Amino acid sequence: MTLNLKSRLEVAIKAVRKASTVCKGVQDRLISPETIEKKDKSPVTVADYASQAIICSVLAEDFPDDVVVGEEDATELRQDDQQHVIAAVMDQVQAVTDNCVDQETVLSWIDLGGANADTPVYWTLDPIDGTKGFLRKEQYAVALALIENGQVVIGLLGCPNLNGGELFVAIKGQGSQRLPLWDSDSVEDQAISVSSITDTASACFCESVESGHSDHSQSAQIAKLLNITNESVRMDSQAKYGTLAKGDSQIYLRLPMNSTYREKIWGHAAGMLVVQEAGGTVTDITGKPLDFTHGRQLENNRGIIATCGPIHDQVVAAVQQVLNA
Ligand code: AMP
Ligand code: MG
Repeated sequence: MTLNLKSRLEVAIKAVRKASTVCKGVQDRLISPETIEKKDKSPVTVADYASQAIICSVLAEDFPDDVVVGEEDATELRQDDQQHVIAAVMDQVQAVTDNCVDQETVLSWIDLGGANADTPVYWTLDPIDGTKGFLRKEQYAVALALIENGQVVIGLLGCPNLNGGELFVAIKGQGSQRLPLWDSDSVEDQAISVSSITDTASACFCESVESGHSDHSQSAQIAKLLNITNESVRMDSQAKYGTLAKGDSQIYLRLPMNSTYREKIWGHAAGMLVVQEAGGTVTDITGKPLDFTHGRQLENNRGIIATCGPIHDQVVAAVQQVLNA
């Protein structure tokens, strides 16, 4: 089968823009400092489901046979006590949908994203990547990628809070572009490329805000080994891949907190392609390519190292030195 990647990207751009609009609205309106204080996750839950429903429905309209492996499914939403959540999700979806939609339709759209990653071709979707950042009113991303025979061939990252709203897109072999996230009429894209530094001393590195997602003390030791004096930039979500792809940072480190955790495919597929197509390199902490042939998780990889390229081997060596000490 030959996939029409250009037309799929066009539809995917429409989907990510719509979902990002909903997520932005929820984040702007529903989260009060009180919600954050109480660690009330309901706003992000509503936005998560609405985002997945919108993306699956937009993709299905043009490509009804395409398979989507999403982070969410509607099993929990179908429970009796979830009516208030469904009602809120319906409001969000209806706001960006032309025709009147009913509850069962929206639930079925969410469930369209419940496929297993066991077909040769599938989309993978994180409807909101970086939920903690979303709740803190900081960075998050809508991440969508198409995988064909284990190769990521399309990647999109909608980053509503990055530089006023940026959309990064890439097709394998065709480079990475940045588009405005909010202007849906805009076809004006701009090719982006990673930073050209070759000396780690001038690098700026980014990592998760959450210390439970990546070991901050080890990354500080690695930075020291690489003579990096710039403060690390802590940022939630695959927005980190976006900053690397456009040259605003040079290293992204994700250092495993334990030996059993495995990264999810939707947490890295889109970001990886956007960085690679901008000229960068993405591997796990041992320098191995990410292997998207093992279902919903990166079973054969641990952690992530993404860099602007020429410094990659040096960064992998420093990571190994610190991790094996
Ligand atoms: P980030 O915003 O980069 O910190 O990453 C957010 C993502 O981290 C979530 O979507 C989870 O998939 C993932 N995550 C959850 N627990 C862990 C963990 N123990 N180690 C690494 N990543 C995790
Ligand atoms: Mg998520």
